Amino acid sequence: MQQFFFDETLRNDGLGDALDDKACSCCKNVYPRQSRRFRCSDCSVFVQCLDCVTSRHSLSPLHRLKEWNGTFWTATTVKKLGIVYQLGHGRHPCRRPAPKVHDLVVLDTEGIHTVSYRFWGCDRADRANNLEQLMRNEWYPATTVDPDTCATFRSLETFRILNVVGNINVHDDFVGSMERQTDPSQVDKVPDRYKAFGRMTRGHDSGGLAGTANGQAALLCWPCPHEGKICPRGGATFLYMLLLAMDANFRLKSRLRANEHDDPPLGDEWGYFVEEAPYKEHLRGYVAEKDVSTCIAFAALLQKDTRLTTGLRCSGVGGVVCARHEVVRAQGIGDLQKGERYANMDYILVFAILGITALYLAISYDITCQWQINIRKRLEKMPEHLVIDLSAITLLFALPVWHAAAHEEACQNENSLTYQDGVGRTDGEGIERTGSVLNPISWATKEMTRGARADSMEDKIDHHNWEKNINQGTTLPRKLILAIDERDHQVEAFKEVDKTLTRSIRKQWQKQIDDWKADRTQPNPYLMAKGKDGTFSVFLMCAALTRQQAGPLKPQYAWR
Ligand SMILES: [Zn+2]
Ligand SMILES: [Zn+2]
Ligand SMILES: [Zn+2]
Ligand SMILES: [Zn+2]
Ligand SMILES: [Zn+2]
Repeated sequence: MQQFFFDETLRNDGLGDALDDKACSCCKNVYPRQSRRFRCSDCSVFVQCLDCVTSRHSLSPLHRLKEWNGTFWTATTVKKLGIVYQLGHGRHPCRRPAPKVHDLVVLDTEGIHTVSYRFWGCDRADRANNLEQLMRNEWYPATTVDPDTCATFRSLETFRILNVVGNINVHDDFVGSMERQTDPSQVDKVPDRYKAFGRMTRGHDSGGLAGTANGQAALLCWPCPHEGKICPRGGATFLYMLLLAMDANFRLKSRLRANEHDDPPLGDEWGYFVEEAPYKEHLRGYVAEKDVSTCIAFAALLQKDTRLTTGLRCSGVGGVVCARHEVVRAQGIGDLQKGERYANMDYILVFAILGITALYLAISYDITCQWQINIRKRLEKMPEHLVIDLSAITLLFALPVWHAAAHEEACQNENSLTYQDGVGRTDGEGIERTGSVLNPISWATKEMTRGARADSMEDKIDHHNWEKNINQGTTLPRKLILAIDERDHQVEAFKEVDKTLTRSIRKQWQKQIDDWKADRTQPNPYLMAKGKDGTFSVFLMCAALTRQQAGPLKPQYAWR
């Protein structure tokens, strides 16, 4: 069997079925003596004469041809056969070709080709310049003046998918692969089109650019409340809560580049990044923030202004995602110049919630214990057009569940998302998972110019958002099944505990909770008490219950 597969794999390295053919398999004309024979890797394995291969390929300049040299197949090209490709109308060649023949390097998914071609010569040429003629042939030119390199639209699409899914880069991975595809032995000189391709891969948007509003090109989270979607106006229950998570990511830094100004992003403010110029202008007015940390354990971890940033254009990014679905918010990303300064993070947050219609807004942030203290004052001091009316919105700030552990115990108990109303079991750590999607490209984006970096990250985020959205169809039902099961457990456990309580204890507990909810300076009833000074606490509750009950609580029903 091994031999069989081996033989069949090698079969078409020779003439294969055409070994004994006396005539061309296409036109059936008998091969004259010393005639040339061809095969096309893209048409099929049949062997054809010069006339046939020539006529078949006048419209297929990117097919990969081979010529039989009597012993083995050697690579040849459509151009080497003297075929001049005629640009046309709807892929039909123009009947009145322009006289001049041009040469062009075309990057395609299957390789890099040199093609001879002519522009249109008919009156329609008056209405479409050379660039338009190339674009209508789905060849994307690398330059706007006398382009000598194009990439086929399909190669850009293929690269885009490989890039966002597999973090394939332009040079070594994609163009390098195309070069090897064209010439595996790397003996012949394949035109080096890395730079040209790098430029072209950034052209994904089309049409109506000037009319694109800020953030409009971003893919929004489908299940989250947006104006006119999901959230009925005045949907005043926690069901319509917008639950966001924000954080800084210092992996996504960027080096200073000499040619920075020559390379703006494709659409500075269309997608996930906040627009650079007004953002920088805003930060100009920033003065170093002094805040007295009340959560000493955590303050030590936070280097707001002290981060080393030598040689860096930015030290990382700050970002906002929806905490439930991990979808990055439109205009929810901005560069950081130093550490995690409030001036940066506040500004990014404002853009991430512009136009908010939800009446409940929860924000999970791993430094929230400090950051939230003056947040309302800081938001009020924003430039006038960025001041968001929060008067009707119930705001809730919390620490993501896992990060809360780095805070002092009192801070954890006060701020952890675990203990907040209406957030369900959201852990707020989703933004870390978004980071883990972006981090693999950080080694590449770190070296890019501002524009290339922004565009690469925009594309990657866009892909991430798309995947997150389409996967909600399986994610949400799975979460629902688990949630219903867990709810049933909890209800059962609650009832079990509840029936052991006296009326007065229940009233007393309820009052503790109500007082604390109304005024957070009141003792937190959820705090674990320590020692004999402990106030009313879970610990005491457990102890009281244990005394009252016949047996101890089952571990899975214990309070957390
Ligand atoms: Zn033939
Ligand atoms: Zn072909
Ligand atoms: Zn024409
Ligand atoms: Zn969402
Ligand atoms: Zn804290």
